[in-house]
Amino acid sequence: MNGSIKLVSVLGIPVEINATWLIAFVGISFYLSVVIFPDFISTWSIFQYWLAGTITTLLLFISVLAHELGHSIVALGQGLRVQGIVLLIFGGVSKIQGEASRPRNEFFIAFSGPAISFAIGIVFTIWWFSFLPISEDQVTPLHGVILYTGRMNLIVAVFNLIPAFPMDGGRVLRSIVWGVTGDPNRATNFAYAVGRYVFYVFIGYGAWQIINGDFGGGIWIIAIASFLMSSGKNEVRGRRAAQAMGSSPPDSSSSDSMDQLSFDVGRATRPMPPMFEAGWSVEQVTYQGLPANPLTSIPVGRQGELIGFILKQDLDNIPIHKRVSVTVGELMDSGSLRVISTHEPARSALQQMDGQRVNQLVVMEEDFVVGMVTRQDIVETLIEFRSANESAGSSDCGTPV
Ligand SMILES: [Zn+2]
Repeated sequence: MNGSIKLVSVLGIPVEINATWLIAFVGISFYLSVVIFPDFISTWSIFQYWLAGTITTLLLFISVLAHELGHSIVALGQGLRVQGIVLLIFGGVSKIQGEASRPRNEFFIAFSGPAISFAIGIVFTIWWFSFLPISEDQVTPLHGVILYTGRMNLIVAVFNLIPAFPMDGGRVLRSIVWGVTGDPNRATNFAYAVGRYVFYVFIGYGAWQIINGDFGGGIWIIAIASFLMSSGKNEVRGRRAAQAMGSSPPDSSSSDSMDQLSFDVGRATRPMPPMFEAGWSVEQVTYQGLPANPLTSIPVGRQGELIGFILKQDLDNIPIHKRVSVTVGELMDSGSLRVISTHEPARSALQQMDGQRVNQLVVMEEDFVVGMVTRQDIVETLIEFRSANESAGSSDCGTPV
């Protein structure tokens, strides 16, 4: 990422710090040292406030890193690749390549970050309770650091579980909707829509704070909400574009041969070829020019609406003297119009074609036809994936904190 420097490598995952993170570091240290700690305790020296403020910020930074490592390690465990972790002004982003292959996998990737934050929060909070100073002058900066590190981790855990995509909670929500409906795209749309409403509420709340005089707090909330909203939009757009082009990578977690057919049908889909009108005679369409391969599926429509398919060989089989009178519609089997969702695995498409004795399926995205798929298309895509397995491009799966 621009303006980032590599800091360390943890478990082979490069950790970068973005220049904007320094702003957050200074801002949070300042806020803790000048506002929060003096509010919490009145007996420390200025040096002690700044010491506690700076160390707490540093621990918060390490905690955010641990949170991101949580996401990354679970993703690695699922066979996904992790490009790195970037720490920036609003927290961290784990750059995970590829997509979880199952709702459950996505759930664990999304949930692992908040789970780490929650665990750190609990440990520090219990640590604080083990001291539980009775009077104010017993409270040292160390106590302050422990209490606030615990508290901020709990806040990070709870905040991130707000079901607003692309936050962790939004991804958890997406995985649940995916699991229930079986449709990852519908799940993305749903989680994205919910997220937008949540961010509007954030922005409204920020504006309300500004009106009430808390300019800094209001701007901060609006900035975070806008940042998350635009990164959510970018991610959803990226996913849609990848799908439309059929260019998303195969699930990198799938390595055995059966699993190689787990890629989305969408990836093997090709645009619908021009349709023949059902009322046209065989002779008419022969003049239009026919594909060479007798097993090519040709879509048939009535007034522009797709009603089924014929094979080129169906046309070839009609004796020449009948070609003027026989129409395409008569040759077509009305049972040949079968549909499949673009997100079904290729394996299901093959099973469906066998079970329904058809040579092709119409591929649908929600209510729209995106194209068609044949056995040949699936086999070709599989071969392509095998050869391009290592070099497949992918989209970042950013997980802000
Ligand atoms: Zn996270």
